Amino acid sequence: MSMQRCDVAIVGGGIVGAAIALGLLRQGVDVQLFDRDPPMPATDANDYDLRVYALSIASQRYLQSIGVWDAIVAERACAYAQMRVWETEPGDALKFDAAEARAAALGHIVEGRVIQRQLWRALPPENVHHDCAVESLQVDADGARLRLGDGREVAARLVIAADSARSPLRTQQGIEVSGQRYAHTAVVCHVRTGEPHRHTAYQRFLPTGPLAFLPLADGRSSIVWSSIEAEQLLAMDDWTFRLSLDEAIQHALGPILECTERVSFPLQLQNALEYVKPRFALAGDAAHVVHPLAGQGLNLGLGDAAELVDVITAARAVRRDIGSLRVLARYQRARRAEVNEMIAVTDGLYRAYRVQLPGWDWLRQRGLLAVNAIAPLRQLLVRRACGL
Ligand SMILES: Cc1cc2nc3c(=O)[nH]c(=O)nc-3n(C[C@H](O)[C@H](O)[C@H](O)COP(=O)(O)OP(=O)(O)OC[C@H]3O[C@@H](n4cnc5c(N)ncnc54)[C@H](O)[C@@H]3O)c2cc1C
Repeated sequence: MSMQRCDVAIVGGGIVGAAIALGLLRQGVDVQLFDRDPPMPATDANDYDLRVYALSIASQRYLQSIGVWDAIVAERACAYAQMRVWETEPGDALKFDAAEARAAALGHIVEGRVIQRQLWRALPPENVHHDCAVESLQVDADGARLRLGDGREVAARLVIAADSARSPLRTQQGIEVSGQRYAHTAVVCHVRTGEPHRHTAYQRFLPTGPLAFLPLADGRSSIVWSSIEAEQLLAMDDWTFRLSLDEAIQHALGPILECTERVSFPLQLQNALEYVKPRFALAGDAAHVVHPLAGQGLNLGLGDAAELVDVITAARAVRRDIGSLRVLARYQRARRAEVNEMIAVTDGLYRAYRVQLPGWDWLRQRGLLAVNAIAPLRQLLVRRACGL
Protein backbone atom coordinates (compact mmCIF):
# COMPACT_ATOMS: atom_id res chain seq x y z
CA MET A 1 0.00 0.00 0.00
CA SER A 2 1.40 3.46 -0.90
CA MET A 3 2.40 5.86 1.86
CA GLN A 4 0.52 9.18 2.02
CA ARG A 5 2.72 12.21 2.83
CA CYS A 6 1.88 15.61 4.35
CA ASP A 7 3.49 18.37 6.40
CA VAL A 8 1.09 18.14 9.35
CA ALA A 9 -1.15 15.20 10.32
CA ILE A 10 -3.85 16.03 12.88
CA VAL A 11 -5.39 13.18 14.86
CA GLY A 12 -8.87 14.03 16.21
CA GLY A 13 -11.44 16.05 14.28
CA GLY A 14 -13.27 17.47 17.31
CA ILE A 15 -13.62 21.25 17.43
CA VAL A 16 -9.98 21.81 18.39
CA GLY A 17 -8.45 19.46 15.79
CA ALA A 18 -10.71 20.83 13.03
CA ALA A 19 -9.94 24.45 14.03
CA ILE A 20 -6.19 23.77 13.82
CA ALA A 21 -6.58 22.03 10.45
CA LEU A 22 -8.54 24.93 8.96
CA GLY A 23 -6.15 27.53 10.43
CA LEU A 24 -3.13 25.76 8.90
CA LEU A 25 -4.84 25.21 5.53
CA ARG A 26 -5.62 28.95 5.37
CA GLN A 27 -1.85 29.52 5.72
CA GLY A 28 -1.11 27.16 2.84
CA VAL A 29 0.18 24.28 4.99
CA ASP A 30 -0.27 20.75 3.63
CA VAL A 31 -2.54 19.18 6.32
CA GLN A 32 -4.44 15.91 6.68
CA LEU A 33 -7.06 15.47 9.44
CA PHE A 34 -8.11 12.04 10.77
CA ASP A 35 -11.13 11.27 12.95
CA ARG A 36 -12.40 7.89 14.01
CA ASP A 37 -16.08 8.97 13.85
CA PRO A 38 -18.32 9.13 10.74
CA PRO A 39 -19.36 12.55 9.33
CA MET A 40 -21.99 14.34 11.41
CA PRO A 41 -25.58 13.56 10.33
CA ALA A 42 -27.80 16.48 9.28
CA THR A 43 -30.18 17.57 12.06
CA ASP A 44 -33.41 19.53 11.93
CA ALA A 45 -33.49 23.19 12.98
CA ASN A 46 -35.46 22.53 16.20
CA ASP A 47 -33.04 19.91 17.42
CA TYR A 48 -30.72 21.66 19.91
CA ASP A 49 -27.45 19.98 20.92
CA LEU A 50 -27.22 19.48 24.70
CA ARG A 51 -23.48 20.29 24.51
CA VAL A 52 -23.22 24.07 24.46
CA TYR A 53 -20.17 26.25 25.01
CA ALA A 54 -19.61 29.76 26.30
CA LEU A 55 -17.16 31.02 23.67
CA SER A 56 -14.94 33.94 24.66
CA ILE A 57 -14.20 36.98 22.49
CA ALA A 58 -10.69 35.56 21.92
CA SER A 59 -12.20 32.31 20.55
CA GLN A 60 -14.61 34.32 18.40
CA ARG A 61 -11.65 36.23 16.94
CA TYR A 62 -9.80 33.04 16.06
CA LEU A 63 -12.90 31.54 14.41
CA GLN A 64 -13.35 34.86 12.56
CA SER A 65 -9.73 34.75 11.37
CA ILE A 66 -10.25 31.29 9.82
CA GLY A 67 -13.52 32.40 8.19
CA VAL A 68 -16.19 30.36 10.00
CA TRP A 69 -17.57 32.73 12.64
CA ASP A 70 -20.24 34.38 10.44
CA ALA A 71 -21.59 30.96 9.40
CA ILE A 72 -21.70 29.84 13.07
CA VAL A 73 -23.67 32.92 14.12
CA ALA A 74 -25.94 32.62 11.06
CA GLU A 75 -26.76 29.01 12.00
CA ARG A 76 -27.40 29.63 15.73
CA ALA A 77 -25.66 31.42 18.61
CA CYS A 78 -26.75 33.60 21.51
CA ALA A 79 -24.68 36.61 22.54
CA TYR A 80 -24.62 37.35 26.27
CA ALA A 81 -23.86 40.80 27.56
CA GLN A 82 -24.14 40.26 31.33
CA MET A 83 -23.15 37.74 33.93
CA ARG A 84 -24.40 37.37 37.52
CA VAL A 85 -22.46 35.25 40.01
CA TRP A 86 -23.53 34.72 43.62
CA GLU A 87 -23.48 32.35 46.54
CA THR A 88 -26.26 33.17 49.03
CA GLU A 89 -28.27 36.20 47.82
CA PRO A 90 -29.02 36.97 44.14
CA GLY A 91 -29.20 40.64 45.21
CA ASP A 92 -25.49 40.50 46.20
CA ALA A 93 -24.40 38.98 42.88
CA LEU A 94 -21.07 39.90 41.36
CA LYS A 95 -22.11 41.65 38.15
CA PHE A 96 -20.11 41.59 34.93
CA ASP A 97 -21.16 43.78 32.04
CA ALA A 98 -19.90 43.74 28.44
CA ALA A 99 -19.73 47.54 28.55
CA GLU A 100 -16.96 47.22 31.18
CA ALA A 101 -14.84 45.32 28.65
CA ARG A 102 -15.81 47.92 26.03
CA ALA A 103 -17.36 45.05 24.05
CA ALA A 104 -20.81 44.44 22.57
CA ALA A 105 -20.96 41.04 24.31
CA LEU A 106 -19.04 39.07 26.94
CA GLY A 107 -19.18 36.07 24.62
CA HIS A 108 -21.58 33.74 22.81
CA ILE A 109 -23.32 30.55 23.82
CA VAL A 110 -23.02 28.12 20.90
CA GLU A 111 -23.92 24.46 20.44
CA GLY A 112 -20.97 22.12 19.92
CA ARG A 113 -22.62 20.59 16.86
CA VAL A 114 -22.99 24.00 15.18
CA ILE A 115 -19.28 24.86 15.59
CA GLN A 116 -18.23 21.37 14.50
CA ARG A 117 -20.50 21.35 11.44
CA GLN A 118 -19.30 24.75 10.20
CA LEU A 119 -15.65 23.79 10.65
CA TRP A 120 -16.10 20.53 8.77
CA ARG A 121 -18.08 22.29 6.04
CA ALA A 122 -15.18 24.72 5.52
CA LEU A 123 -12.54 21.96 5.28
CA PRO A 124 -11.85 20.62 1.76
CA PRO A 125 -12.97 16.94 1.64
CA GLU A 126 -9.58 15.84 0.30
CA ASN A 127 -7.97 16.94 3.60
CA VAL A 128 -10.42 15.17 5.94
CA HIS A 129 -10.65 11.44 6.67
CA HIS A 130 -13.69 10.22 8.65
CA ASP A 131 -14.16 6.70 10.04
CA CYS A 132 -10.41 6.64 10.29
CA ALA A 133 -8.97 5.72 13.68
CA VAL A 134 -5.25 6.23 14.12
CA GLU A 135 -3.71 3.19 15.76
CA SER A 136 -0.09 4.07 16.34
CA LEU A 137 2.63 6.65 15.85
CA GLN A 138 6.33 6.12 15.26
CA VAL A 139 8.74 9.03 15.41
CA ASP A 140 12.37 9.22 14.27
CA ALA A 141 14.79 11.99 13.33
CA ASP A 142 13.44 12.26 9.77
CA GLY A 143 9.74 12.29 10.44
CA ALA A 144 6.64 10.81 12.04
CA ARG A 145 4.69 7.86 10.71
CA LEU A 146 1.04 7.12 11.57
CA ARG A 147 -0.58 3.74 11.12
CA LEU A 148 -4.33 3.90 10.47
CA GLY A 149 -6.95 1.32 11.46
CA ASP A 150 -7.33 0.19 7.83
CA GLY A 151 -3.60 -0.56 7.55
CA ARG A 152 -2.66 2.60 5.59
CA GLU A 153 0.37 4.64 6.66
CA VAL A 154 0.85 8.40 6.66
CA ALA A 155 4.21 10.19 6.89
CA ALA A 156 4.29 13.73 8.33
CA ARG A 157 6.84 16.27 9.54
CA LEU A 158 4.63 16.99 12.54
CA VAL A 159 1.74 15.10 14.22
CA ILE A 160 -0.76 17.05 16.34
CA ALA A 161 -2.91 14.98 18.70
CA ALA A 162 -6.29 16.55 19.56
CA ASP A 163 -7.71 13.11 20.28
CA SER A 164 -9.69 13.82 23.49
CA ALA A 165 -8.87 13.78 27.21
CA ARG A 166 -8.08 10.07 26.94
CA SER A 167 -5.65 10.69 24.03
CA PRO A 168 -4.35 7.28 22.98
CA LEU A 169 -1.44 8.99 21.17
CA ARG A 170 -0.38 10.88 24.31
CA THR A 171 -0.16 7.56 26.15
CA GLN A 172 1.75 5.93 23.28
CA GLN A 173 4.27 8.77 23.35
CA GLY A 174 4.84 8.13 27.06
CA ILE A 175 3.58 11.55 28.19
CA GLU A 176 2.28 11.45 31.76
CA VAL A 177 -0.51 13.63 33.17
CA SER A 178 -1.12 15.23 36.54
CA GLY A 179 -4.56 15.85 37.99
CA GLN A 180 -7.45 14.29 39.82
CA ARG A 181 -11.06 13.23 39.45
CA TYR A 182 -13.39 15.90 40.91
CA ALA A 183 -16.17 15.01 43.36
CA HIS A 184 -18.58 16.82 41.01
CA THR A 185 -20.44 15.34 38.04
CA ALA A 186 -22.02 17.83 35.61
CA VAL A 187 -25.74 17.44 34.86
CA VAL A 188 -26.70 19.17 31.62
CA CYS A 189 -30.11 19.98 30.08
CA HIS A 190 -32.06 22.83 28.46
CA VAL A 191 -34.97 24.53 30.24
CA ARG A 192 -37.76 26.98 29.48
CA THR A 193 -38.19 29.54 32.27
CA GLY A 194 -41.04 31.79 33.38
CA GLU A 195 -38.88 34.93 33.01
CA PRO A 196 -36.76 35.82 29.93
CA HIS A 197 -32.99 35.30 30.27
CA ARG A 198 -32.23 38.86 29.07
CA HIS A 199 -29.01 37.64 27.40
CA THR A 200 -27.53 37.08 30.84
CA ALA A 201 -25.52 34.11 32.16
CA TYR A 202 -26.30 33.23 35.78
CA GLN A 203 -24.09 31.20 38.10
CA ARG A 204 -24.73 30.29 41.71
CA PHE A 205 -22.16 28.56 43.91
CA LEU A 206 -24.06 26.06 46.06
CA PRO A 207 -22.43 24.03 48.84
CA THR A 208 -22.91 20.96 46.58
CA GLY A 209 -21.33 22.64 43.51
CA PRO A 210 -21.87 25.44 40.95
CA LEU A 211 -25.06 25.80 38.89
CA ALA A 212 -25.00 27.81 35.64
CA PHE A 213 -27.86 29.02 33.41
CA LEU A 214 -26.59 29.96 29.93
CA PRO A 215 -28.91 31.82 27.50
CA LEU A 216 -29.94 30.08 24.25
CA ALA A 217 -31.05 31.71 20.99
CA ASP A 218 -34.64 30.39 21.27
CA GLY A 219 -35.19 32.01 24.69
CA ARG A 220 -34.48 28.85 26.70
CA SER A 221 -31.44 28.43 28.96
CA SER A 222 -28.89 25.65 29.04
CA ILE A 223 -28.08 24.28 32.50
CA VAL A 224 -24.71 23.03 33.71
CA TRP A 225 -25.20 21.80 37.27
CA SER A 226 -21.93 20.46 38.68
CA SER A 227 -22.76 18.66 41.88
CA ILE A 228 -21.70 16.06 44.39
CA GLU A 229 -25.36 14.97 44.29
CA ALA A 230 -25.57 14.38 40.54
CA GLU A 231 -26.86 10.85 40.96
CA GLN A 232 -29.88 12.08 42.93
CA LEU A 233 -30.46 14.90 40.39
CA LEU A 234 -30.45 12.41 37.54
CA ALA A 235 -32.81 10.03 39.34
CA MET A 236 -35.48 12.70 40.07
CA ASP A 237 -38.71 12.76 38.07
CA ASP A 238 -39.19 15.80 35.80
CA TRP A 239 -41.44 17.73 38.20
CA THR A 240 -39.14 17.26 41.25
CA PHE A 241 -36.08 18.18 39.20
CA ARG A 242 -37.68 21.39 37.91
CA LEU A 243 -38.67 22.40 41.46
CA SER A 244 -35.16 21.65 42.78
CA LEU A 245 -33.62 23.68 39.96
CA ASP A 246 -35.90 26.66 40.58
CA GLU A 247 -35.04 26.55 44.28
CA ALA A 248 -31.31 26.13 43.62
CA ILE A 249 -31.19 29.23 41.36
CA GLN A 250 -33.36 31.07 43.91
CA HIS A 251 -36.19 31.76 41.42
CA ALA A 252 -33.91 34.16 39.47
CA LEU A 253 -35.63 33.25 36.19
CA GLY A 254 -39.12 32.44 37.44
CA PRO A 255 -40.51 28.89 37.51
CA ILE A 256 -38.88 26.21 35.36
CA LEU A 257 -41.67 25.42 32.89
CA GLU A 258 -40.09 22.71 30.75
CA CYS A 259 -36.96 20.62 30.81
CA THR A 260 -35.30 18.36 28.20
CA GLU A 261 -33.68 15.03 29.00
CA ARG A 262 -30.69 15.28 31.38
CA VAL A 263 -27.21 14.01 30.49
CA SER A 264 -24.16 13.85 32.74
CA PHE A 265 -20.38 14.24 32.48
CA PRO A 266 -17.87 13.15 35.13
CA LEU A 267 -15.43 16.01 35.80
CA GLN A 268 -11.69 16.01 36.24
CA LEU A 269 -8.57 18.14 36.29
CA GLN A 270 -5.85 16.90 33.96
CA ASN A 271 -2.68 18.48 32.65
CA ALA A 272 -0.08 16.74 30.47
CA LEU A 273 3.44 17.06 31.89
CA GLU A 274 4.74 17.81 28.38
CA TYR A 275 2.74 19.35 25.53
CA VAL A 276 5.41 18.63 22.91
CA LYS A 277 8.04 16.10 21.90
CA PRO A 278 10.08 16.03 18.69
CA ARG A 279 7.55 15.95 15.79
CA PHE A 280 4.62 15.71 18.21
CA ALA A 281 2.29 18.25 19.89
CA LEU A 282 -0.80 17.90 22.06
CA ALA A 283 -3.78 20.29 21.81
CA GLY A 284 -7.20 20.72 23.40
CA ASP A 285 -8.43 18.22 25.98
CA ALA A 286 -5.60 15.87 25.01
CA ALA A 287 -3.26 18.45 26.63
CA HIS A 288 -5.44 19.82 29.47
CA VAL A 289 -8.89 19.42 31.04
CA VAL A 290 -10.31 21.95 33.52
CA HIS A 291 -13.49 22.13 35.62
CA PRO A 292 -16.28 23.71 33.50
CA LEU A 293 -17.26 26.20 36.25
CA ALA A 294 -15.63 29.02 34.29
CA GLY A 295 -16.63 27.65 30.85
CA GLN A 296 -13.04 27.76 29.59
CA GLY A 297 -11.99 24.26 28.40
CA LEU A 298 -12.76 24.74 24.72
CA ASN A 299 -11.57 28.36 24.86
CA LEU A 300 -8.19 27.05 26.02
CA GLY A 301 -8.23 24.50 23.17
CA LEU A 302 -8.94 27.24 20.61
CA GLY A 303 -6.08 29.22 22.21
CA ASP A 304 -3.85 26.20 21.50
CA ALA A 305 -5.08 26.24 17.90
CA ALA A 306 -4.27 29.94 17.42
CA GLU A 307 -0.79 29.54 18.96
CA LEU A 308 0.07 26.39 16.97
CA VAL A 309 -0.93 28.06 13.71
CA ASP A 310 1.25 31.09 14.61
CA VAL A 311 4.27 29.02 15.60
CA ILE A 312 4.11 26.78 12.52
CA THR A 313 3.55 29.71 10.14
CA ALA A 314 6.47 31.65 11.64
CA ALA A 315 8.79 28.61 11.40
CA ARG A 316 7.85 28.00 7.76
CA ALA A 317 8.51 31.66 6.91
CA VAL A 318 12.18 31.24 7.94
CA ARG A 319 12.42 27.67 6.58
CA ARG A 320 12.78 26.04 9.99
CA ASP A 321 11.79 22.40 10.55
CA ILE A 322 8.20 22.66 11.91
CA GLY A 323 8.62 19.38 13.81
CA SER A 324 11.77 20.41 15.68
CA LEU A 325 11.64 20.67 19.44
CA ARG A 326 13.07 24.18 19.24
CA VAL A 327 10.06 25.38 17.22
CA LEU A 328 7.49 23.46 19.28
CA ALA A 329 8.95 24.65 22.61
CA ARG A 330 7.63 28.15 21.86
CA TYR A 331 4.10 26.72 21.64
CA GLN A 332 4.55 24.82 24.90
CA ARG A 333 5.86 27.89 26.77
CA ALA A 334 3.01 30.12 25.67
CA ARG A 335 0.25 27.61 26.35
CA ARG A 336 1.61 26.29 29.64
CA ALA A 337 1.49 29.80 31.14
CA GLU A 338 -2.15 30.37 30.14
CA VAL A 339 -3.31 26.87 31.10
CA ASN A 340 -1.63 27.06 34.52
CA GLU A 341 -3.35 30.38 35.18
CA MET A 342 -6.75 28.89 34.25
CA ILE A 343 -6.13 25.81 36.40
CA ALA A 344 -5.29 28.06 39.35
CA VAL A 345 -8.61 29.90 38.90
CA THR A 346 -10.90 26.92 38.26
CA ASP A 347 -9.30 24.52 40.72
CA GLY A 348 -9.00 27.33 43.29
CA LEU A 349 -12.72 28.13 43.00
CA TYR A 350 -13.63 24.42 43.17
CA ARG A 351 -11.63 24.11 46.40
CA ALA A 352 -12.78 27.41 47.92
CA TYR A 353 -16.42 26.37 47.57
CA ARG A 354 -15.80 22.84 48.85
CA VAL A 355 -14.51 24.17 52.19
CA GLN A 356 -17.20 24.12 54.90
CA LEU A 357 -15.43 25.74 57.85
CA PRO A 358 -17.26 28.09 60.29
CA GLY A 359 -17.05 31.66 58.93
CA TRP A 360 -15.59 30.58 55.57
CA ASP A 361 -18.83 31.20 53.63
CA TRP A 362 -19.02 34.70 55.18
CA LEU A 363 -15.44 35.36 53.99
CA ARG A 364 -16.25 34.15 50.46
CA GLN A 365 -19.34 36.38 50.32
CA ARG A 366 -17.31 39.39 51.56
CA GLY A 367 -14.78 38.60 48.82
CA LEU A 368 -17.49 38.69 46.12
CA LEU A 369 -18.92 41.94 47.49
CA ALA A 370 -15.46 43.48 47.61
CA VAL A 371 -14.76 42.57 43.96
CA ASN A 372 -18.17 44.00 43.04
CA ALA A 373 -17.31 47.29 44.73
CA ILE A 374 -13.91 47.76 43.04
CA ALA A 375 -14.64 48.78 39.45
CA PRO A 376 -11.06 48.43 38.03
CA LEU A 377 -10.77 44.89 39.50
CA ARG A 378 -14.15 43.96 38.05
CA GLN A 379 -13.12 45.35 34.66
CA LEU A 380 -9.89 43.35 34.79
CA LEU A 381 -11.82 40.15 35.56
CA VAL A 382 -14.27 40.82 32.72
CA ARG A 383 -11.44 41.32 30.25
CA ARG A 384 -9.70 38.10 31.40
CA ALA A 385 -12.97 36.14 31.19
CA CYS A 386 -13.47 37.39 27.62
CA GLY A 387 -9.92 36.34 26.78
CA LEU A 388 -8.89 39.94 25.97
C1 LIG B 1 -20.28 19.83 31.22
C2 LIG B 1 -19.21 20.55 30.43
C3 LIG B 1 -19.41 21.86 30.04
C4 LIG B 1 -18.42 22.55 29.33
N1 LIG B 1 -18.65 23.85 28.99
C5 LIG B 1 -17.68 24.54 28.36
C6 LIG B 1 -17.88 25.93 28.01
O1 LIG B 1 -18.91 26.53 28.29
N2 LIG B 1 -16.87 26.59 27.37
C7 LIG B 1 -15.69 25.97 27.04
O2 LIG B 1 -14.80 26.63 26.49
N3 LIG B 1 -15.48 24.66 27.34
C8 LIG B 1 -16.43 23.93 27.97
N4 LIG B 1 -16.24 22.60 28.26
C9 LIG B 1 -14.98 21.93 27.82
C10 LIG B 1 -15.10 21.35 26.37
O3 LIG B 1 -16.18 20.43 26.33
C11 LIG B 1 -13.82 20.64 25.93
O4 LIG B 1 -12.68 21.37 26.31
C12 LIG B 1 -13.80 20.47 24.39
O5 LIG B 1 -14.95 19.78 23.96
C13 LIG B 1 -12.55 19.68 23.95
O6 LIG B 1 -12.54 19.54 22.55
P1 LIG B 1 -11.41 18.67 21.81
O7 LIG B 1 -11.61 18.91 20.34
O8 LIG B 1 -10.08 18.94 22.41
O9 LIG B 1 -11.74 17.14 22.20
P2 LIG B 1 -12.96 16.21 21.83
O10 LIG B 1 -14.22 16.98 21.65
O11 LIG B 1 -12.96 15.12 22.86
O12 LIG B 1 -12.60 15.59 20.40
C14 LIG B 1 -11.64 14.56 20.24
C15 LIG B 1 -11.79 13.94 18.86
O13 LIG B 1 -10.76 12.96 18.68
C16 LIG B 1 -11.28 11.84 17.99
N5 LIG B 1 -10.39 10.68 18.28
C17 LIG B 1 -10.10 10.14 19.48
N6 LIG B 1 -9.22 9.11 19.35
C18 LIG B 1 -8.95 9.01 18.03
C19 LIG B 1 -8.11 8.15 17.24
N7 LIG B 1 -7.36 7.18 17.77
N8 LIG B 1 -8.06 8.34 15.90
C20 LIG B 1 -8.81 9.31 15.31
N9 LIG B 1 -9.61 10.16 16.00
C21 LIG B 1 -9.69 10.02 17.35
C22 LIG B 1 -12.71 11.72 18.51
O14 LIG B 1 -13.54 11.03 17.59
C23 LIG B 1 -13.12 13.19 18.66
O15 LIG B 1 -13.75 13.69 17.48
C24 LIG B 1 -17.21 21.89 28.98
C25 LIG B 1 -17.00 20.56 29.37
C26 LIG B 1 -17.99 19.88 30.10
C27 LIG B 1 -17.76 18.45 30.53
